[in-house]
Amino acid sequence: MKRAMAWGLLLCLVLAGCAPKSAQRTIFAMDTVMELTVYGKDAEENVKAAAERINELEKLLSVTREDSEVWALDHAGGETVHISPETNALLRAARAVGEATDGALDVTLYPVVRAWGFTTGEYQIPDEGTLEELLKKVDYRAIRVEPDETGPANATLPAGAEVDFGALAKGYAGELCAGMLRGSGVESALLSLGGNIQTVGNKPDGSPWVVAVQDPAGESGESLGTVELTDQAAVTSGGYQRFFEENGVRYWHILDPETGLPARSGLVSVTVVGESGTLCDGLSTACFVLGKDASLDLWRRCGETGLWPTHETTGMADEGGFDLILVGEDGVVTVTAGLRDRFRLDENTGHTLQIVEE
Ligand code: AMP
Ligand code: MG
Repeated sequence: MKRAMAWGLLLCLVLAGCAPKSAQRTIFAMDTVMELTVYGKDAEENVKAAAERINELEKLLSVTREDSEVWALDHAGGETVHISPETNALLRAARAVGEATDGALDVTLYPVVRAWGFTTGEYQIPDEGTLEELLKKVDYRAIRVEPDETGPANATLPAGAEVDFGALAKGYAGELCAGMLRGSGVESALLSLGGNIQTVGNKPDGSPWVVAVQDPAGESGESLGTVELTDQAAVTSGGYQRFFEENGVRYWHILDPETGLPARSGLVSVTVVGESGTLCDGLSTACFVLGKDASLDLWRRCGETGLWPTHETTGMADEGGFDLILVGEDGVVTVTAGLRDRFRLDENTGHTLQIVEE
């Protein structure tokens, strides 16, 4: 008996020695639940630093906190305000995505988003006159930033215009944390920022991370398929994520900046996979607005190089391109070539898979 116990103890010690050290944190930030998991030695310290960084970013970028930098920018009444490198990086990334998508991503859409009640949950359908009036102030190209380079800067919005980084900030937070963790020697981490996935390296066993893509038509949490990631982000935008219904019509939170109405492009969800979480987040929203054909055109033009070929654009990592998983109302799942061997459609979802080679 004693011998069996001794063997048992030894086995436990051996297994404990083999299991990678890990640390986990669940935080609520940027209006969502975030799960951070970091592996390796100093995991506890590193996960803590990542959580703190996200809280810092939230303080800078929150559109509702009266002490945030975005609040100061939105309430400056046309005056110039000083902005941090982080806010500047997001403005630069938003401009790059806005330009590449003909304004499908427009961070000055905030007053329109608010008129629909998507910021508070007090939903309503704004009348045409209200939308028309609010849309007059929507134009990301009217944001002035001096100097036009990375780092701290001075920014000016036209009076009455307001920005919100809701379409990009979680991807940016994931990207910054991943960079910070890599800099601290972390080789394996999984950051799940409310549906925005950011990975560092591979799983501790050396195989790629495998993350589920949600079925937009299924009950919440059902999977459509899986995608393998190494040192990449996977970000999904979908009409099912935040919406309300009136008279049998569904109104969701991703709006077309041309009309101020929920974007109805024939897509029900868009997942973007790439090295830059910021780019993936911005593009997931923009491609949802653009629809399948225009999104594939964009992929053909920039999928390999990305939108900001050098880090000079944003101060972030070179982003190295992207791939798309587009889910259509017709049940077709369109996947671009880079994910050919890394995306797997679940069986019996009722969807059909189409791979776009070029
Ligand atoms: P995401 O979940 O990343 O697709 O971002 C959606 C959020 O971004 C919404 O909740 C709005 O706050 C904001 N938003 C909606 N439509 C747009 C748009 N076309 N451009 C920029 N931001 C948008
Ligand atoms: Mg987004």
